[in-house]
Amino acid sequence: MKRLCPLVLCTCLLLFGCTDENSSESAVSRDLFAMDTYMTLKAYGDAADSALSDAAARITDLETLLSVTEEGSDVWNINHADGAAVAVSEDTYTILEEAHSISERTDGALDITIYPVLTAWGFTTGEYNIPDADTLAELLTYVDYTGVKLQDGTVSIPENAEIDLGALAKGYTGDAVMSILEDAGVTSAIISLGGNVQALGSKPDGSDWTVAVLNPFASDENMCILEISDKAVITSGSYERYFVGGDGNTYWHIIDAADGYPADNGLVSVTIIGDSGLECDALSTALFVAGAAEAEEYWRSENGSFDMILVTEDAQILITEGIADAFENLTDMTVQVLYLS
Ligand code: ADP
Ligand code: MG
Repeated sequence: MKRLCPLVLCTCLLLFGCTDENSSESAVSRDLFAMDTYMTLKAYGDAADSALSDAAARITDLETLLSVTEEGSDVWNINHADGAAVAVSEDTYTILEEAHSISERTDGALDITIYPVLTAWGFTTGEYNIPDADTLAELLTYVDYTGVKLQDGTVSIPENAEIDLGALAKGYTGDAVMSILEDAGVTSAIISLGGNVQALGSKPDGSDWTVAVLNPFASDENMCILEISDKAVITSGSYERYFVGGDGNTYWHIIDAADGYPADNGLVSVTIIGDSGLECDALSTALFVAGAAEAEEYWRSENGSFDMILVTEDAQILITEGIADAFENLTDMTVQVLYLS
């Protein structure tokens, strides 16, 4: 994570650096570190200051609830219940329902029960290690999202299974921040939760926000600029957290439950643009695992209800038609637009 921080800040500066010009309203911002990442919240208008304080408090509460390592969190309680059903907060339940739905619709590309495998690779501690095939085979017997049972506000998982909400937690948190700001009367705000950007409304002058997406091949540079309002822009990429093994190969933090290895289906980054941060975050991880062909198929099956930017390992950019006009390519990679019909 430490490696990421300058890049994320860099993106935020560019992002927020563009927002102040010609603004008659003053901006209020908060910087915080939560959920293992840097977060920046920025809002405009009279209600902004107190709303941002409430939002920051909500982030801290959600961090406590959703942490996989903090004893007594909802996730910790589920993982340590020896198979028993555990009553959880509405927040956790909502995230688990969305995870289940996306897992089903992506044939298990998203699988929150991947945690024991993630641990074996050392992604949970930073003490990286390439697990041997027998270890992976054994751990994979505990991985199965269909074993997560949700009923009337309670959750149970099989005894040896463990879940982690790292693939969706920040997206849900972004949605929670947006509703606090909106309820407080804020109409113009933009937040970056470790590079996950969510915008409320447009800039105070009515124009779109400018959001940069990093170049997965040179992650200290931007790949593109997007002009958006009222949207989440959420990216998963193999460049975000990785290590180089003793065998010289690179291994990253998004794991394919099909074999327990880092997902290697031809993509280096997936950015999802849509209305719900929770859905965008879940999909960014799921479609990274699924690969370009399945991602496109999923987008079609959902009738283009979200937009996406896929970057393939051979340096092609695929974008969906809904954002074609809002997209500015800053690289010499070729861009192909996907159309629904
Ligand atoms: P980031 O957290 O880096 O922004 P993601 O949203 O893609 O990126 O989430 C990656 C995290 O999701 C991993 O760190 C891990 O906790 C978890 N994860 C990894 N592989 C999977 C998977 N196949 N399904 C669900 N969660 C996963
Ligand atoms: Mg995600």
